[in-house]
Amino acid sequence: MATAVDFYTRVITRLRSWGYAVEEVPGWQSRTTQGGAFDPTLLFVEHHDASAPTTDDGAHGYVVAKKLSQFTISRSGRIRLCAAGVTWHAGVGGPLHGVPRNSANTRSTAVEVANSGSEPYSDACTSSIVALEAAWAIEAGRTAEIHLVVGHKEWATPRGRKVDPAIDMDWRRAAVAAFIAEKSGQPAPAPAPAPALVPVSAPAPASDLLAVPAWTLPAGHYLGDISGPDESHGGWGTADDAMVLFAQRAFIALGCVPGQSNPGSSWADAKWEGATTDACRRWFDTRRPNGAAQPHKTRTYRDDWNILVAQVAAATAPAPAPAPQPAAPAPSGMLRRGSTGVAVRRLQAALKASFPAYRHTCGAMVVDGDFGPTTEKWVREFQRRSGLTVDGIAGPATLGRLGL
Ligand SMILES: [Zn+2]
Repeated sequence: MATAVDFYTRVITRLRSWGYAVEEVPGWQSRTTQGGAFDPTLLFVEHHDASAPTTDDGAHGYVVAKKLSQFTISRSGRIRLCAAGVTWHAGVGGPLHGVPRNSANTRSTAVEVANSGSEPYSDACTSSIVALEAAWAIEAGRTAEIHLVVGHKEWATPRGRKVDPAIDMDWRRAAVAAFIAEKSGQPAPAPAPAPALVPVSAPAPASDLLAVPAWTLPAGHYLGDISGPDESHGGWGTADDAMVLFAQRAFIALGCVPGQSNPGSSWADAKWEGATTDACRRWFDTRRPNGAAQPHKTRTYRDDWNILVAQVAAATAPAPAPAPQPAAPAPSGMLRRGSTGVAVRRLQAALKASFPAYRHTCGAMVVDGDFGPTTEKWVREFQRRSGLTVDGIAGPATLGRLGL
């Protein structure tokens, strides 16, 4: 097990260098359910421990005693290294990403996160999860394979046998990729900003209405209604705020406010109350890919904001200049290899904004309105993860899932 001890020592050293206080549970170096081969670098499996939300530690003590994962993270974000050997966490499942069926326990690293499955993760907890998964990926040499960070629900079979964690793992992976990029000094894979999509010359009154104000909330804060004591530390819920006004107008522009089609409507009043919460939930359900899996559908965090901005930019992009428009796709919109034009740009922008982590497996995609091999790879990856027919052709089903 010397190798695994070395590996986990490197992981926690890196976490500490980032400012995360990792606690070492005595005996972690020799804690294991079994001897024999163990490779902790082939897969990372995230769990929640389904504990009642009454203690910070959740099931930590039980996890250590029963040897159920290498790491635990508490509700407040305490990271603890519990074991360097094989643990029993994955169970029946797979094959997945090259890990053979029913063999993840000896080929993966696991974290049990204190969470009931129906409560929001605290900001500190989320920060610790993302940092741990990023440190694992770096030390395992997997930064180009962030798809190897999976949720238990993605490993376990039959599908639905396990539901943990109750977070959209595509979002988690995107956050891990962004975190790694930030730590390595690369430009963060942020959603494509509006300028590429909205020409300066656009004579659009809607553009003024939908001018994007700066996101000025502190890290971890969100736009949303404060509706309970558990939200008092994170919610903003402010009135007369340019960001709320933009979000409301964006919800209208994206068709998420029944009976409203004009972003200039007085429905948008810069006050985030019940009707805005409903619009936000509708946006997650209908416009935001995989939104149904999100526990924060009534809130708009910075990541959500970036996607909202990109979707509004795509939705309000003016029609292309009439001059050079060869082989424009049919209006019914089957976009495939060789398609070009504004519809392809919208497709590319939506994929890039929603799933920045795809660049790790599919390569960097330029939003250029040209459907080439890289765009096809992104489309296939999206279809595979969304349970759609994987044909690399963006038809109504694929475009619909992307909210286009
Ligand atoms: Zn689990």
